[in-house]
Amino acid sequence: MKDMTCRNATKTVWSGEKEYLVHGASQVPVVHSVAYTYDDIDQWYEVATGKQKGHIYGRNTNPTVQAFEDKVRALERAEAATSFSTGMAAISNSLLTFLKPGDRVVSIKDTYGGTNKIFTEFLPKLQIEVDLVETGNHSKMEDEIAKGCQLVYLETPTNPTVKITDIKRITKAARQMGALVFVDNTFATPINQNPLMMDVDLVIHSATKFLGGHADALGGVVCGSKNLVEQIYHYREINGASLDPMAAYLLLRGMKTLDIRMKKQEENAHQIAEFLKSHRKVETVFYPGLKDHFHHDIAKKQMSGFGSMLSFSLKGEMAAVRQFLPNLQLAHRAANLGAVETTVGPARTTSHVENTKEERQELGIPEGLVRYSTGIEDINDLMEDLEQALRVVGE
Ligand SMILES: *Cc1c(COP(=O)(O)O)cnc(C)c1O
Repeated sequence: MKDMTCRNATKTVWSGEKEYLVHGASQVPVVHSVAYTYDDIDQWYEVATGKQKGHIYGRNTNPTVQAFEDKVRALERAEAATSFSTGMAAISNSLLTFLKPGDRVVSIKDTYGGTNKIFTEFLPKLQIEVDLVETGNHSKMEDEIAKGCQLVYLETPTNPTVKITDIKRITKAARQMGALVFVDNTFATPINQNPLMMDVDLVIHSATKFLGGHADALGGVVCGSKNLVEQIYHYREINGASLDPMAAYLLLRGMKTLDIRMKKQEENAHQIAEFLKSHRKVETVFYPGLKDHFHHDIAKKQMSGFGSMLSFSLKGEMAAVRQFLPNLQLAHRAANLGAVETTVGPARTTSHVENTKEERQELGIPEGLVRYSTGIEDINDLMEDLEQALRVVGE
């Protein structure tokens, strides 16, 4: 497969599939079989010991799952990829593959809520020190890295205020200390950002979000060098957070439209951000595509698109949000994001529900902040819907 030379829209449709097609089928089959049979005992041994290609047991490998991994791998232009039952499994397994007691991790304060819990609750129990720097304070982060660390963990853009970290700059600092660099690329997707091309070691995705795009399957995936990914694969095959074949199929099918979805969703998000910014009942709008967003310049430099996630706060805070949200007709009020339908929710009930009010304040997340994941609907309908829902606020 010439997956290294094709452009993204072609890769989303074609990459990773050919090897898995059977009986002349044009689509990848869902292989539900847990185990694989061998009449030849020697061949069985060769496959089981990894000397020959093939499958042994579903916790290790599965053809449908591999097709999915291969498509993401092609899009991230990586040497290797492996997958997980959820995005959080991808994150925890990748961290635990490499970290040991006495190690130190440097990351940012506003990673995804679950990731933040790993840093503040679970890693310290293993005597792993974690230092979290205010997102966007690059010189402070460079100072923390220079003190010595084994791993630097980034997420950019972040949830829900869409802050951006300069990947190249931080990776350069990490390289000087010999630290590994992981980037959670869930919000940008491989369509808008390829961290591996910026010298990063490992890219992580919650495939549950944009990759799948239809909010009907959970999954996670990591991409990087063969050497790193093989170690993570080994941790996962033993610890067991494997991706289910049916979920892999749904994610694979969803990914075929990833490129066109991302373009349409971004176009809608940009117009909505401009619209909300000029609305008298809206206090602030966070969208990296807006020229006055605090990290617009970095986003422009390292991303090929600004994505479809935005957030905003209303004048009148939570009381206004309580009036506004139930009136939206064209949005699911739900905890997920990245789907074809527009999805909204207050940060305090979605991404940062695990945090206390004080922690959210410290992260610069207003209590009344609304996260808006823009879908592929007609932009005029979305704007009319926002307009009518805002009309009742404060009246
Ligand atoms: C949702 C999300 C995760 C966790 O993924 P799950 O599939 O829900 O486990 C991790 N990182 C980011 C940025 C996310 O949005």
